[in-house]
Amino acid sequence: MAGTAKMASLAMTALKSNFSSLKRPYKLNFCVTYWCQSACLTCKIYEIRPKGELTIEEIRKFAERNSYFQWIELTGGEPFLRSDIVEIAKAFKESCKDLYLMTMPTNSLCNISMVEKRLREILSLQIPRFVVTVSLDGWRELHDKIRGVQGNFDKAMQVYGMIQKLKKEHMNVDAVFGYTMSKFNQGQFEQTYQAVKQLYPDVTYNDFHINLAQASENYYKNEEMDIRPDYGMAAKEVEYFLTKRSRSADPMIIIENAFLKKLVEFAKTGKSPMRSRSLEASLYLDSWGNVYPSIMWNRKIGNIKEVDYDLSKLWHSEPAKEVRKDIKDGKQPSEWTSCEAYQALTGNMLSLL
Ligand code: SF4
Repeated sequence: MAGTAKMASLAMTALKSNFSSLKRPYKLNFCVTYWCQSACLTCKIYEIRPKGELTIEEIRKFAERNSYFQWIELTGGEPFLRSDIVEIAKAFKESCKDLYLMTMPTNSLCNISMVEKRLREILSLQIPRFVVTVSLDGWRELHDKIRGVQGNFDKAMQVYGMIQKLKKEHMNVDAVFGYTMSKFNQGQFEQTYQAVKQLYPDVTYNDFHINLAQASENYYKNEEMDIRPDYGMAAKEVEYFLTKRSRSADPMIIIENAFLKKLVEFAKTGKSPMRSRSLEASLYLDSWGNVYPSIMWNRKIGNIKEVDYDLSKLWHSEPAKEVRKDIKDGKQPSEWTSCEAYQALTGNMLSLL
């Protein structure tokens, strides 16, 4: 299927989720490794020294037995620390015939030549759309302080520049900056934007994605940390950011702007602005094979190794049904992250108007 047909197929699945419950998920949030060489003030993933993470053979089996994903986020840790990251992308590309979109964050701390080589190999797989989120939490000194690594800002700029060059050769690649708003950088977005603009004059507000720092037991392992920004201030800062972003007929921009409007609502109320689509449209798979509804919901459904890598056996299990019932009864955790929000938005198209 060509790229446009795959995009249309993904849009149809999202549309269908407005009118009926999906039989299987279309989006996979997969943490490929918890290894990370950063030392962020907002997250404790870097303290884990993971052992026994899924091997490439196990990931291949999972991809072969669950070949219906149309959108895959390969996250970490730092995904490029996996020497087999290209093989992982290839496993999903070869098995998931309708795969349209693959996204991946990076902390920009790996050797840039190695990242470029691996990216080129991934792009040659011809996944119709591949988006790298370059993490950026502040201007030079602020970013380095939050990330705990001297020189990280400059490395992030180099990675962004490298992807801009790749865009000239590969139509399917794009890069955005991922800004996590926390108590450490609240009120600093505009200055961060201007710092990037000095180096990349063509950058626009649409090249940034904002998330609010949130606590998660099963993913960031940061539930004990005091990281949240003042939500009142954060709401104002996101509202300001929204006024700077351009409107467009591009579905991705429409969805992103809707995400931000709801982020303001979340910051003002502290409550999820929409019904979760976890374990209906999406799931979170960690690097040991454990399945959760989302990165923010520490409610393990099972492990893919226990079911011979066939997710359907967990999908129809009692624990999964209980999660769906809790969501229906309004008992979902308060969260609004990009891992889950887009499925909620596209599953309720009226929210995009
Ligand atoms: S936020 Fe990302 S880069 Fe920072 S410690 Fe966590 S996984 Fe690593």
